[in-house]
Amino acid sequence: MTIQTKAALLRAYGEPLRIEAITLDEPGPGEVVVRLGATGVCHSDFHMLDGGFKTPLPTVLGHEGAGVVEAVGPEVRGVAVGDHVVLSWIPSCGRCRYCVEGRPALCVDRQGVERRGGPVRMHDAGGKDIHQFLDTSAFAERVLVRAEGVIPIAADVPLETAALVGCAVLTGIGAVARTARVEAGSGVAVIGCGGVGLNVIQGARLVGAAHIIAVDRRPAALALAREFGATETLDSSDPAAGDVARAIRKLSGGGVDYAFEVVGRPETIATAWESLAPGGTAVVVGLTKQNGQVTLRSDFLSEKKLLGCIFGSSVPRVDVPRVLELYRLGRLKLDELATRRYRLDEVNAALAVLDGGEAGRGVIVFE
Ligand SMILES: [Zn+2]
Ligand SMILES: [Zn+2]
Repeated sequence: MTIQTKAALLRAYGEPLRIEAITLDEPGPGEVVVRLGATGVCHSDFHMLDGGFKTPLPTVLGHEGAGVVEAVGPEVRGVAVGDHVVLSWIPSCGRCRYCVEGRPALCVDRQGVERRGGPVRMHDAGGKDIHQFLDTSAFAERVLVRAEGVIPIAADVPLETAALVGCAVLTGIGAVARTARVEAGSGVAVIGCGGVGLNVIQGARLVGAAHIIAVDRRPAALALAREFGATETLDSSDPAAGDVARAIRKLSGGGVDYAFEVVGRPETIATAWESLAPGGTAVVVGLTKQNGQVTLRSDFLSEKKLLGCIFGSSVPRVDVPRVLELYRLGRLKLDELATRRYRLDEVNAALAVLDGGEAGRGVIVFE
């Protein structure tokens, strides 16, 4: 028996995604099938399109999903048919050194469907293998994933809101609360105010940062940044803004305690570094080029720190319910993140606007 579904396939780099009918295998031990309600469109999907980042092809992109469990395999515990769930693109093992330390985002034994060394579990109409992307492949009506990769949530949370929790929200808020552990009263700069950047901003507001300086080259993104808690904004496309790091230092009275880079470019990482006060911390949240190089001015006697970050160092089983409780209490904005809605067959348009600099997040909503 196999499961029929529809998915957006990336068959070759540089080509548009193609909507095709595909099949999923029946869920095996420890696996579940989720019928998706919504999938957010993340820059990490966009970065795969042209081959600048490699993933085995053909594949189905998409990793920010939420839906309803439709089938469970043997030996699945803690999740049942009918449960509403958020997908986690790091289905951590729970046993390795990092998982035991409470750092599942660094799990070295990720339990994705393909990672267990078994056969590929998605196939096209001709029976050929389709590879899973980031243990999710959520630009599809249904996904077959490990039970470790689904986090049950309350059924009254709209799925298009819950979907964004699975990447943008946990990454942004986690970068502040877990990776950097920003203290109340800190000065913060956020360079790049897309879907993740907006969550860095509201994470900084949540933990009580004093100044939150938002930097972007898109006026619409800066307007959203203010709604999400930025206290000051800097339009980096405005020549009058001059040197961005200097402008941040001026606004913050000598530099910020934390600078979050949410773009993934060497120049903006250097800007984050230069905008710090002595003792400050720069956090690279943006996805940087594989094996790229970053040049920083040596300034280590000031005890500056540079931190890497994956998935906001989040612990999804703890953080997803926490974030949704804060949303319920009106202390986090989640509904406002999704500014564009698409059907699955509009996925190429949804990805294309990420190049043009639209503000907010696009979401694919399934029937
Ligand atoms: Zn993402
Ligand atoms: Zn692990």
